Amino acid sequence: MSDRDGKIWKDGQLIDWRDATIHVLTHSLHYGMGVFEGVRAYKTDKGTAIFRLKEHTQRLFNSAKIFQLNIPFDQQTIMQAQIDVIRENKLESGYLRPLVWIGSEKLGISAKGNTIHVAVAAWPWGAYLGEDGMNKGIRVKTSSYTRHHVNVSLVRAKASGYYINSILANQEALADGYDEALLLDTDGYVSEGSGENVFIVKNGKIYTPDLASCLDGITRDAVLTMARDLGIAVIEKRITRDEMYCADEAFFTGTAAEVTPIRELDNRQIGDGTRGPVTTRLQALFFDAVAGRAPQYSHWLTLV
Ligand code: PMP
Repeated sequence: MSDRDGKIWKDGQLIDWRDATIHVLTHSLHYGMGVFEGVRAYKTDKGTAIFRLKEHTQRLFNSAKIFQLNIPFDQQTIMQAQIDVIRENKLESGYLRPLVWIGSEKLGISAKGNTIHVAVAAWPWGAYLGEDGMNKGIRVKTSSYTRHHVNVSLVRAKASGYYINSILANQEALADGYDEALLLDTDGYVSEGSGENVFIVKNGKIYTPDLASCLDGITRDAVLTMARDLGIAVIEKRITRDEMYCADEAFFTGTAAEVTPIRELDNRQIGDGTRGPVTTRLQALFFDAVAGRAPQYSHWLTLV
């Protein structure tokens, strides 16, 4: 990743990709307190557009606020940085990674007085869970690792350190031959994937866990909006893993994962064991929205 041509925005300037480095004594590298975003840009008829740029940037600033990281730029500047990075790297479509971290002035738990830094990088990224998974659905395993407790981690923030939990769960699932992990909350209810929100469909209604222990996903919000617009009932509530076994359909949502059907959980086939009709409909509408083919959602797109 580090050795390639291109530009990365770092602390207010577009610099060469290879020069976008940090010191080994960077505070965030040692203790994991950094916040970040994952954003996608898509090709549309009018040119490349970033999906829900404002909402992602707002969540980045909310994450920073939760940790009292004082970002030394305003939201407008960080939005412009994301546009510039897509443009400068001549990406027709791709994934954007804004990152906020604490500098290397001093180490120790207290980061008081250390500088706060921001970078934005972008690169091409296809279907996160594979093209085949997009069409046929993926196989998921309930993790032996529990998702964050609300008073251990403040999960409204999208924080670097939280992803240790995600990596453990994902590693375990992949090592056991599955495509992705499903994590339960500290009470044993379904929370989310290692990097995705989760949905089930039962008797024509859509259910997703409430936001207690999972990330307030921007794709989750888009799918809930689209489902409501289609006249499909959506319910946010606690979901058990056996409820999911007996669902008609299930799917993951996320910036990276987009809308990925789940065909199996813990070796139990979900529904017909393929992408179900409601998932198919929402997935198609999602791809129409991001590609500018759904005018009712054009306000979600920022042309670069
Ligand atoms: N949950 C977790 C843990 C994630 O990392 C992500 C990806 N950001 C999501 C859910 C989905 O969020 P979004 O749709 O905003 O990408």
